[in-house]
Amino acid sequence: MLTQNLGYPRIGSHRELKKICENYWAGKTGYKNVLQVGKNIRHENWLMQKEAGIDVIPSNDFSFYDQVLDHSLTFGVIPKRYNEVILKKGNTELDLYFAMARGYQKDDLDVVAMEMTKWFDTNYHYIVPEFYKDQPFKLFSTKIIDEFYEAKQLGIITKPVLIGPVSYLLLGKEKEAGFEKIDLIKNLLPVYQDILTRLDALNVEYIQFDEPFLTLDLTEKEQKAFEYAYKELRKAFPRLKIVLATYFEGLGNNLTLATSLPATVLHIDLVRAPQQLPEVIAALNTKTILSLGLVDGRNIWKNDFENSLSVIKQAENKLGKDRVWIAPSCSLIHTPVNLDNETNEQNLSVEIKQWLAFAKQKIAETVTIKQLASGENAASVERKFAENKLAQQNRKTSALIHNNSVKQRVKNIEDKDAERLSNYPSRKIKQQKLNLPAYATTTIGSFPQTAEVRSWRAKFKNGTFSAEEYDALIAEETVKAVKWQEEIDLDVLVHGEFERNDMVEYFGEQLDGFAFSKNGWVQSYGSRCVKPPIIFGDVSRPKAMTVKWTAFAQSLTSKYMKGMLTGPVTILQWSFVRNDQPRAETCAQIALAIRDEVNDLEKAGIKIIQIDEPAIREGLPLRKADWQHYLNWAVKAFRISASGVQDETQIHTHMCYSEFNDIIQNIADMDADVITIETSRSQMELLDVFADFKYPNEIGPGVYDIHSPRVPKRAEMVQLLKKAKAVIPAEQLWVNPDCGLKTRGWDETKKALIEMVEAAKEMRKN
Ligand code: GLN
Ligand code: ZN
Repeated sequence: MLTQNLGYPRIGSHRELKKICENYWAGKTGYKNVLQVGKNIRHENWLMQKEAGIDVIPSNDFSFYDQVLDHSLTFGVIPKRYNEVILKKGNTELDLYFAMARGYQKDDLDVVAMEMTKWFDTNYHYIVPEFYKDQPFKLFSTKIIDEFYEAKQLGIITKPVLIGPVSYLLLGKEKEAGFEKIDLIKNLLPVYQDILTRLDALNVEYIQFDEPFLTLDLTEKEQKAFEYAYKELRKAFPRLKIVLATYFEGLGNNLTLATSLPATVLHIDLVRAPQQLPEVIAALNTKTILSLGLVDGRNIWKNDFENSLSVIKQAENKLGKDRVWIAPSCSLIHTPVNLDNETNEQNLSVEIKQWLAFAKQKIAETVTIKQLASGENAASVERKFAENKLAQQNRKTSALIHNNSVKQRVKNIEDKDAERLSNYPSRKIKQQKLNLPAYATTTIGSFPQTAEVRSWRAKFKNGTFSAEEYDALIAEETVKAVKWQEEIDLDVLVHGEFERNDMVEYFGEQLDGFAFSKNGWVQSYGSRCVKPPIIFGDVSRPKAMTVKWTAFAQSLTSKYMKGMLTGPVTILQWSFVRNDQPRAETCAQIALAIRDEVNDLEKAGIKIIQIDEPAIREGLPLRKADWQHYLNWAVKAFRISASGVQDETQIHTHMCYSEFNDIIQNIADMDADVITIETSRSQMELLDVFADFKYPNEIGPGVYDIHSPRVPKRAEMVQLLKKAKAVIPAEQLWVNPDCGLKTRGWDETKKALIEMVEAAKEMRKN
C-alpha cells in the first residue's frame, strides 16, 4: 500500500509567489529572483512531503501562474499574436508566459491576454488554450522535464503531473470554424510521446495524467479519443507506470471506459463520490491499482480516520493490500497551505482548529491513514487515531456548531415561506405606487473602495481608529455618495457599501456559525488569492446586519434607498462549507438569516431591497443529471430570503458573469421583481434568452462594462438600450451598469453615471 499526492499549493505558505510575481510585473525585481522564489517553493514542498512520508510525490504541479497555461507553453500552443513578444530582445520565456496570462503592454507593443475561465466547479480560474484549425504542437517549454530533474537532484524521484491529452483539448476553445478541437488529438500525442521519452531517459517511474473529464458527460467522439490516446501511449511506452487521475465527480457512465484504459493506477474521488467504490472495484481489471481519494482536497475539514479505514477495508478485501493506494481526493491547490500558521485564537479558536486540516495537515493525514490501515501500531500512530476520534466526536456535539432552534426553524419551513403574498402581476400593480419612471436608473450597490476607505478599515482593525472614528468616516463617505447620486438625478440610490470589506465576508463576520482564518489563502487565478470564510456551524443572525447604514442613507434623501444584501447561495458558494450536513441544509439556514434581514430592512422603511446572487450559476453540478436537484434548493433558498415582505416592497436580484441559456426557467422561478444582469460586453446578446422566454418581471441589462476604467459614451449606451428595447418591452426595462463599482475610481465612475442617466432620459423622450 502506497500513498500518493496529486498536487500541492504553489503559492507558498505566506503567498511568496504572489508577492514576487507582482513585484516583477511592477518592474521592482528581476527575473532571477522570480525563478529563485519558484525554486524555493518547489523544494520546500517536495521536502515537506518526503519528510511527511508520502511515497509518490508530484512534480510539475508548481506553476508561476496556471497549470493549464504551463501546458500550452509546453506544447507550443502559443497564439500568433505573441510572436512579437517572443522576438523582442531581452524577453525571456517567463515574459512570454506572463504576456499570455496577462497581456503585454510595453513600448509600442500591445497584445491582449488569453481568456480565463473557471476550473470545473472550483473557484480556481485557468487560462483557456486557443486552438486553430491547423494547430501545430511541438515541445516548446521543457518545464516538466526540468522540474523532474530538479527534484531528482534533491534525491526525490517524483511523479510528473500532466493534464491528460483529452482533458487538455477539452479545456481549450476553437478560435475559428471548420474543425473540432477533439480531432487535434492525433497531432497532440507526439508531444506527449516526446515528453515521455525524455522523462524515460531520466528514469522516471510513475507519470500522472489528470483526466477530470472522465467524471463528466462525454460525447461518443470524446470517449473514442480517450481510447485512442491511451492505447497509443501504452503502445509507445509498454512499461510506463501511468497514474490516471479522475476527480471532482464519480466516473458514472464512463466507468467502463475509464477502467478499460491501460493505466497502472486509477485514482478516484471518494469524497465527492463515495458511492462509486463498489462499482469501480467490480469493473477494475485484475492488475490495476486503485488509488482511493479519501482526504478532501476541496475543503478544510479533518479527515474522519475511522470512516476512511472502513473504506480502505472494503477495497482491500476485494483487491488486496498491494492494489490499494491512499491519496487526497484531488490536488490540494484548492485548500489553504498550513493550519499551523493560524495562531490567532480570535480568528480560529482552539476548539474550531481541532476540526480543520489545511494542505500540509492533509499530507500528514494521508500518511497516518496508511499507517493505520497497514496496522502500524506504533504508539504515536495510535495517539493520532485517538485524537482524530475525539475531534470527530467533539464536532458531533459541540455547542459551537449545534443550535437546535436553528435546526428546528429549518425543519419548520413551509412552502408558503418561499412564496410572496401575491403573484408578480398583482405585485407589479401595487409597486406602481413607487412611481418610478420608465427606464429607471440605479447602480448595483458598491461605489469606489478607494485606498483611503480601505486604509480606514485597516486602521480600525489594528486599533488605530476607534469604532466611532471609523464610523464617522464611513458616514461622511456615504453622505457624499448619496448627495452626489441625488445631484445627477439617479432614480434609485444606494448607500455605497463603504463599510464592507467583501460582499460575503461582511455578512459572515456578523453571522453565527462562520469563522475566518488569518492566512487561509487559496489561489483564485494567477497571483490572486482569496480567503473564503469557514461555515462550521448552524447559521443564525444575532442582530440586524445592514439596517443601520441603510436607514442612515435613507434618512439623507427623499429618493428610494435600495437595501443591499448578499444572497444565501452566493454566501454558500464562496465559503468553505461544513460537510456534516447537506449543502442544501446549510443554505436554508443562511436563507432564513437573510430573510430576517430583509424583513428588518422593510420595517426600517426601506422599499426596495436587492439580494445579490452572482454565484447561482457557478454552483451548478458537473453532471447535468444533478442540475435539477441543485436548482430546486438553490432557487428555494433565494425565495425564502425574499418572501417575507409585503407585495409593495420591491425585491431586486443581481447576477453578473452568467449565461442564462439553460437555466432561464429557474431564474424566472426566483421571481425577483427586478433582476439586473451583466450584458454590455455581449452587446445585449445575453438578453435574448430573457426575450425568447418572455421573461415577465423587470430587468436591468447592464449598459456599461465596469471592469475597465474606460468611460462609455452616452450614444453607446443609448444604442444598447435601443437594442434592449427591441427585444424587451420598455416598461420592463431598468438602466444600470453591469456590476458594482467598487474596483473603479471616482473620476470615471462619476463621468460614466452622468452619461448613463442622460442616456436613460433620452430613451424616455421617444
Ligand atoms: N452589490 C455588490 C456590489 O455592487 C454586487 C457585487 C457582485 O455582483 N459581484 O459590489
Ligand atoms: Zn455583479
